[in-house]
Amino acid sequence: MNIAENLQKIKSQINKAEKTAGRNENSVKLVAVSKFHPVEEIEEAIKNGQLLFGENRVQEAVQKFTQLKEKYPDIVLHIIGQLQSNKVKNAVKISECIQSVDRLALVEEIEKQCAKINKKIDILFEFHTGEESKSGFEKEEDIEQILEMIKNGNFPHINPKGFMTMAPFTQEQSLIKKSFSMLKNLQAKMQQKFPEFELSELSMGMSNDFETAIAEGSTMVRIGTAIFGARNYQA
Ligand SMILES: *Cc1c(COP(=O)(O)O)cnc(C)c1O
Repeated sequence: MNIAENLQKIKSQINKAEKTAGRNENSVKLVAVSKFHPVEEIEEAIKNGQLLFGENRVQEAVQKFTQLKEKYPDIVLHIIGQLQSNKVKNAVKISECIQSVDRLALVEEIEKQCAKINKKIDILFEFHTGEESKSGFEKEEDIEQILEMIKNGNFPHINPKGFMTMAPFTQEQSLIKKSFSMLKNLQAKMQQKFPEFELSELSMGMSNDFETAIAEGSTMVRIGTAIFGARNYQA
């Protein structure tokens, strides 16, 4: 696996997709998803200019990123996987953004743990748009309720930045597109209802479908396999 080459290739594919979609160059951020990949491979990416990473398991993230952040203070970590409440304490310590916020109880726990360490954290609301595992909010009213609570000052350590989704794993382009446009529509609606927030981030698109996601308005693609190669789940 040549991580430097892969990064370069992905970036030029992103730029091309931005151009095709009539979007500004570098308007789409690249989150390098390093789950199941060792520190040495992450360092390889950092040395090639990649500073934004995603991990989906908190324990693994703490193990790898505690040392990495000491060595490279500029790197930024987003938690992108389903988050149990008892992992929130460590999650908010190690990361700058929780992309996988999927319930009110999680928002409450994030607030509690951030208050303790006096840290303000970014969050994205994960919305279920058709992917098989059904992670994310199912109802937009639930997201609306939380935004209302943030607006009313309930969660002063939480900074809502936008939305995240996963498309279904399918070859069917129309289904993938539908999933991404659903998230875009949700964003437009919520942004209109809550002009006091900047809900501009749309985290959508992975190794298989990021070009479609960019065409549909993604501002952040989360790419693992195409950068680091296949994951070894046995390790
Ligand atoms: C693993 C993962 C990714 C990256 O998937 P690839 O197909 O390897 O690019 C993106 N988003 C989430 C939420 C993930 O869990």
